[in-house]
Amino acid sequence: MSGKLYLCATPIGNLEDITLRVLRTLKEVDLIAAEDTRYSRKLLNHYEIKVPMTSYHEHNKVDKARYLVEQLIDGKHIALITDAGTPAISDPGEELVKQAYDAGIPVTSLPGPCALITGLTLSGLSTQRFSFEAFLPHGKRERARILKELTEDTRTLILYEAPHKLKKTLEELYEALGKRTITIVRELTKIHETILRTSLEDAVAFYEGSEPKGEYVLIIEGKSHKELEIEKQSMWEEKTIAEHMKTYIDKGQDKKEAMKSVAKDRGISKREVYQALLDAKIE
Ligand code: SAM
Repeated sequence: MSGKLYLCATPIGNLEDITLRVLRTLKEVDLIAAEDTRYSRKLLNHYEIKVPMTSYHEHNKVDKARYLVEQLIDGKHIALITDAGTPAISDPGEELVKQAYDAGIPVTSLPGPCALITGLTLSGLSTQRFSFEAFLPHGKRERARILKELTEDTRTLILYEAPHKLKKTLEELYEALGKRTITIVRELTKIHETILRTSLEDAVAFYEGSEPKGEYVLIIEGKSHKELEIEKQSMWEEKTIAEHMKTYIDKGQDKKEAMKSVAKDRGISKREVYQALLDAKIE
């Protein structure tokens, strides 16, 4: 019988934020795979957990996951913990989960702290629809592409950011997204937990006079539906009906669908669209 892989959520700051089930599981497994064994040793010592640990991190994840899967096939039960929070969220965990599934190993996740969810709950922004973007990519082009995509997103946006990159990221977000509300949560669950709820513009100004320190989650208001509607309207207001039709046909709609879309945008009937096209001798 193969063993089981347990994804164990650990504290993101406050050592008391750990579930009874995670503590029991960490004591019962044969091996604990940890992102940084020296860092996790403190947590395990605090809870008097003496199970052997092995390192599993970004730079050895593919080969080490293979080794861990072999151990699981041999019947060992393994817990995965990362530096903080829920394994597989913005950390190497997802590789091990994938390889375990590929080998038919049972996997379970023991829920607990997660910085993005904790930040979202404190944001005061819509929690109904949100998009987690993790860390923005480093590459200039890829970063610009993602920022462009984000400008159209109506969902609340959640980003992780390192302190030394915070200022630059805020400036770029302001440039791309303009006037939006942002909640910047810092050092969640720790003594110096702080919450700054402001506009992107003021956030940029705030950090001009203050050096970022600690761990951050940024939660930003999505684009408003009203703004989207206005943009959509101004996109066709200058166009003739034939040009307006073409924008939908270029997007892959057939003629019938395009007539319906144009009629809807302009608040007129399909017959009127048809007539206008006839008048323009397009039909
Ligand atoms: N797996 C983790 C989770 O469940 O949230 C995230 C790991 S990711 C490598 C680390 C990032 O999470 C940090 O750079 C920071 O953006 C965010 N983070 C982690 N702990 C935090 C805390 N206590 N306060 C604010 N942000 C935190």
